[in-house]
Amino acid sequence: MKEQYISTRGTQEGLSASSAIIKGIASDGGLFVASHLNRMNLPLKDWLSCKTYSDFAQKVLSLFLTDFTASQIEHCVTQAYETGKFSSQEPVQLEDVGDRAFLELYHGPTAAFKDMALTILPHLMTTALKNVGADHRVLILTATSGDTGKAALEGFKDVPGIGIVVYYPKDGVSLVQEKQMITQEGDNTKVVGVVGNFDDTQTGVKLIFNNETIKAQLMTQNTVLSSANSINIGRLLPQIVYYFYSYFELVRRDKIVLGDAVNYVVPTGNFGNILAGYYARKMGLPVHKFVCASNNNCILTDFINTGVYDTKRPFYKTSSPSMDILVSSNLERLLYDLCGEDASVVKGYMDLLNTEGVYRIDEELLGKVQELFYGGFADENATKDAIRKTFEEKNYLMDPHTAVANAVYEAYVQKTADNTPAVILSTASPFKFSQSVYESLYGESPEDMDPFQQLKELSQQTGVPIPKPLQDLETKPVRHQTVVDKQDMATVLESI
Ligand SMILES: *Cc1c(COP(=O)(O)O)cnc(C)c1O
Repeated sequence: MKEQYISTRGTQEGLSASSAIIKGIASDGGLFVASHLNRMNLPLKDWLSCKTYSDFAQKVLSLFLTDFTASQIEHCVTQAYETGKFSSQEPVQLEDVGDRAFLELYHGPTAAFKDMALTILPHLMTTALKNVGADHRVLILTATSGDTGKAALEGFKDVPGIGIVVYYPKDGVSLVQEKQMITQEGDNTKVVGVVGNFDDTQTGVKLIFNNETIKAQLMTQNTVLSSANSINIGRLLPQIVYYFYSYFELVRRDKIVLGDAVNYVVPTGNFGNILAGYYARKMGLPVHKFVCASNNNCILTDFINTGVYDTKRPFYKTSSPSMDILVSSNLERLLYDLCGEDASVVKGYMDLLNTEGVYRIDEELLGKVQELFYGGFADENATKDAIRKTFEEKNYLMDPHTAVANAVYEAYVQKTADNTPAVILSTASPFKFSQSVYESLYGESPEDMDPFQQLKELSQQTGVPIPKPLQDLETKPVRHQTVVDKQDMATVLESI
């Protein structure tokens, strides 16, 4: 029997990996998890045969995608990582900067780490459709806080049998991010601005997923809905790869010896990236601590410190908008695993989250969270300072999300004196957030300087080149102009 994907809330029948990828979210509102996760622990030496990023990717995916053939997996991996979509030879780069390493995940087609998964997800999905013998079309609906949207559009554009609609909070993304999305090409793409913040946008998309009328209507056109958010297991699994890749790269560089523990510092929003690290650890990767870094929206910091997940708090717009999130969907998968895969416990917490906006985990579970996760946050000033100081002292340019991680890591070391080697996940190109980065380095920019001048100015002053995908953005024609109120998010689907 093939390994099954089951729901964190317990009342969805088990599905194959292919079906789980197509479906995106379980019928009971839960998230799909691999029922065999706890049997995947491999000896570290089993990974030594992996040399390239693609080798690691094939090994990780073959453990999870049990109804894919080896040649299907190889095809997906090659298409994603070896067809020139990434500007560096390997899709990720590990940069040694003083006593820590930055794992740069932003050398893909949209200059943010979402590319690591969204260059491969479309291939996983078309293969999955083949595997289940589906003859229907798939409509991908995605809520984005900025980076997912563009990466998903770029990944799915012109993929046969698949259409994609991206919703973004109209005033919740950077100008470069918005321009990247509204200039999107491809006959199967649609981009919609929503009046509201990211949580409104994400909630609106979840409502569409649960709306039986809409789904029936789409069915008459032989179309089913799916998701490209990190609730989709096909989005999450490719993110496990770079944890292994970076660990073995540290070994190769003699920074550590095989078996040494490493700390991973992760700028966190929806808890997808850091959860992929947790899965890597379950598979045998020696990780001492995960440092979960937040911005002013520090709901995860409070949760890790107190066990209370409380969404009843102000929402802040920050310079790291991809982390301006109050409902971190993937935390559900962590709780499911840490509480011994007890779906009724998870469902209890999620029901409370939906009805009261708050839940408290029990002491035992909190103990398990704290054993492995440290939570901290950096406010706007600390973020700016981190960008400026790191550039001045180490000549390394960070985007605001990475800067949040760096600032939280420094506070962590001060507090704990933990000198375990650390890898900081660097999630976006600084040029994607050129305005904040520019201002962190040089103070307020002149009022008449537009974002594209800023980009050029930043490059000139720092000597760091503008990534290719952002170079020709200024002159690209706008192709998407729809803006809706949050209660009208479903109506745009009728026009497709
Ligand atoms: C999405 C994103 C994050 C947050 O990642 P999660 O998986 O949502 O925790 C951090 N930084 C950047 C630049 C992102 O695009």
